[in-house]
Amino acid sequence: MSAAESLPAPTISLNEAADCVWDALVVGAGPAGAFAARELARDGLRVLLVDKARFPRSKVCGCCLNGAALATLADRGLALLPARLGARRLESFHVATAGHHATVPLPAGVALSRERLDAALIGEAIRAGCEFLPQTQAALGQDTQASRNVTLRCHSHSATTAARVVLAADGLAGGLLKHEPGCETRIARRPRIGLATILDQAPPAYHAGTIFMACARRGYVGLVRLEDGRLDLAAALEPFFVRRVGGPWSAVDAVLREAGLSPIEGLDRQVWRGTPTLTRHRALPAAQRVFALGDAAGYVEPFTGEGIAWALSSAVAVKPFVVQAVDRWHAALPRAWARRLATLAGRRRRLCRMLTLLLRVGPVTGLAIRALGRAPGLAGPWVRWLNRPWQDSGSMSPCVERAG
Ligand SMILES: Cc1cc2nc3c(=O)[nH]c(=O)nc-3n(C[C@H](O)[C@H](O)[C@H](O)COP(=O)(O)OP(=O)(O)OC[C@H]3O[C@@H](n4cnc5c(N)ncnc54)[C@H](O)[C@@H]3O)c2cc1C
Repeated sequence: MSAAESLPAPTISLNEAADCVWDALVVGAGPAGAFAARELARDGLRVLLVDKARFPRSKVCGCCLNGAALATLADRGLALLPARLGARRLESFHVATAGHHATVPLPAGVALSRERLDAALIGEAIRAGCEFLPQTQAALGQDTQASRNVTLRCHSHSATTAARVVLAADGLAGGLLKHEPGCETRIARRPRIGLATILDQAPPAYHAGTIFMACARRGYVGLVRLEDGRLDLAAALEPFFVRRVGGPWSAVDAVLREAGLSPIEGLDRQVWRGTPTLTRHRALPAAQRVFALGDAAGYVEPFTGEGIAWALSSAVAVKPFVVQAVDRWHAALPRAWARRLATLAGRRRRLCRMLTLLLRVGPVTGLAIRALGRAPGLAGPWVRWLNRPWQDSGSMSPCVERAG
């Protein structure tokens, strides 16, 4: 990996950023934000990408890019990026519950740390001509006639800049749209939280090329070897269960044992990161001169590992909306964007949500895994469907005339 990929440095100062009116200001440099910034900069727009984090940074994630995510990268000229970063090909999915095991072949997919993936996508955005400002927190300001103000805070300095369009790619925990009318977040019933750690040492049973998934009553734990041999562990668990058993490591240990996967020494010495409650959606994923994308627009539990594919696809889909809004803002654009996202992901999300609800019924999970253990091919259509490229989103126009 080159230095540019591992350490995306700022390309502009806070004061310089405040001196411009940007076509698009993208808040959040995860896959959704960095990819959208790249796509827009490639179209010749003046784009600023900001993130409160310093990169490379880790993130609560299973670190698996499925076939759909890889197809979107390839479609936009980045087919070779995962291999260049050393991503590991995923051959199979091994799932366990209550001592029953099944292994299902995977048609596509790679494991890649978020340190490398996110830094590389930012590098691609910079290469496309986008300006990048890390360690900078953004907050929405007032809407003026022709632009939206955004306050940028970097360490103890702050400055206000303006953009014709703001993209809220600030993830699950982002609060950019918190005070915007109609944009409140709706959380699903009995939500789970995400927990993750990366282990330098782990039992060899967790070998490279396979996603291991331990399913138990109170949640599930996914494990995968990364490009450098470390083991990424990411879990979705009921928060009261985590509290009851004494914290993240004992909850993860309990799930691994209940499911029948190898226990891991030293979980109590790991650094754990967490997320807010997972399954949620935003009443309206847009506001005046703002479009939300990726997790900021809504999120379903990570069992099927679709979050990065969703982030990349929504980044491609937003492009015509931004182009139209830069030219002329239209009051119907927010609802048109909500409809576009629903067409892009609605069906997938409903099915993934249904699957995660079924997984909560222990006997159903047990029966399904026993059946898969005997006939792994039963999962074939479902696995192929999940890995199928998302419908092409780049060419779809906003159709604001239907929204009025
Ligand atoms: C347990 C778990 C396992 C998962 N496993 C997988 C998997 O295996 N495969 C998969 O495809 N997906 C997986 N996901 C989902 C995936 O991690 C997300 O869907 C993906 O990261 C979404 O990308 P994003 O760009 O929308 O948001 P993020 O990657 O969260 O990026 C948001 C960025 O915004 C920045 N930010 C927030 N607020 C501000 C602000 N005010 N100003 C400036 N910057 C700000 C943050 O610092 C962050 O860098 C998993 C999720 C969880 C919780």
